[in-house]
Amino acid sequence: MSQVVVVGAGPVGLAAALALRSHGLPVLLLEADPQDRVRPGSRALFVHRETLQLLDGMRPGLADRITAYGRTWHTKRTLYRGREVYARTFPPPSGTPPFTSLRQIETERFLLAACHDAGVEFVWDARVAGVRSGPDAVVLTGEDGRTWTAAHVIAADGARSAVRRELGIPLEGVHSAGFHVVVDIADRPGAELPLERVFHYEHPGLGGRSVMRVPFTGGFQLDLQCRDDDTQEAYGTEEAVRGWLPEVVGEGYEDRVLWVSTYRFLRKVAAAFSDPYHRVLLAGEAAHLFPPFGARGMNSGIADGAAAADAIATGTPEAVAEAAALRRAAALFNSEAAGTALEHLRPARRIVRAKQRAAAALSPVLPWCGAWLEHAPYGPRNGSPASAGRKY
Ligand SMILES: Cc1cc2nc3c(=O)[nH]c(=O)nc-3n(C[C@H](O)[C@H](O)[C@H](O)COP(=O)(O)OP(=O)(O)OC[C@H]3O[C@@H](n4cnc5c(N)ncnc54)[C@H](O)[C@@H]3O)c2cc1C
Repeated sequence: MSQVVVVGAGPVGLAAALALRSHGLPVLLLEADPQDRVRPGSRALFVHRETLQLLDGMRPGLADRITAYGRTWHTKRTLYRGREVYARTFPPPSGTPPFTSLRQIETERFLLAACHDAGVEFVWDARVAGVRSGPDAVVLTGEDGRTWTAAHVIAADGARSAVRRELGIPLEGVHSAGFHVVVDIADRPGAELPLERVFHYEHPGLGGRSVMRVPFTGGFQLDLQCRDDDTQEAYGTEEAVRGWLPEVVGEGYEDRVLWVSTYRFLRKVAAAFSDPYHRVLLAGEAAHLFPPFGARGMNSGIADGAAAADAIATGTPEAVAEAAALRRAAALFNSEAAGTALEHLRPARRIVRAKQRAAAALSPVLPWCGAWLEHAPYGPRNGSPASAGRKY
């Protein structure tokens, strides 16, 4: 019995299944949702270069298909209270672009098609409820009583992972106060906004709240950082968004809102990424939760899936144990880096806000001050292998 079961058909489970197929292993993918599900919202937009390269290694040509559809911008701008403090346009790169931006539902569409081409077997409507791992195999039980036996399991069943819960592995970490509002807006055909990422600190039209605009194919996403004492009703409902939207992008977008959601800030990492027998590996949000700044969630999840597949293909418990330890170390790094970004974005200490104000004031004479304001919202620029890196 060499079959590997992947639990969860989110981006991480789909990528893990592809990676396993690239090693020639038979893969069964169990997904709780029905086949005709509609996944909400866009969530992860940004697929960075290392992820594209990983995906291309799993299925040659896949990176080209994704980048041909996604958007890559070359201009980045930062404003502080209505005044530009940084703007830079980079020459278009040769080869794989540094990133591409598309809605997560589109990334999943490409991954799903690649899985079908690669011969991944799917079972939809299969919600895993029980897990028993042993020295030789893993037995999974569905909530309807069906069972599946596998040599190895990759658990990519998301933030509320049933597999993690069944293995008794806790998530450890912190959650911060407050929330942010994420809004996807469709372009107005013929009147598209410039293809650039814009971060605006303390936007004067938003009572000093910071907001970012990020393009994706067909539209753009706004990410509004709310204050700790803001209410969801005032900023996070569709009606509230229609109220503040014109301040950021002008009139004419009120009827083009595709999706509104509010998110809280969780930084959590599973206490272990595999079971004691090294037959089950956790990947993606089943293993870690980060705030989205820095694009660490989906990108590092896909790297988890790739590492899990490589280890399983090696076939030794030692390889699985090593992959689990390495990916957990990457997750801890990413959690730390996301915390640094959060401290800059939502300064709890007055000194941080004062430093930002001073940097904005000095940026016309000291360009590095503007560059610092541009880079700091995404956390450290160096990163762990195939996981860190900058979002925009
Ligand atoms: C607002 C926001 C913005 C984000 N922006 C970015 C970004 O720009 N870049 C980035 O890299 N990341 C970003 N992320 C994070 C990214 O969306 C997640 O990291 C990503 O969705 C995780 O993928 P996953 O496959 O691990 O989990 P999920 O996408 O949650 O998929 C889990 C799958 O498992 C299935 N499932 C669940 N339970 C079971 C079960 N018991 N049995 C079988 N199947 C099950 C679910 O139905 C689902 O299909 C963002 C997240 C948010 C919320």
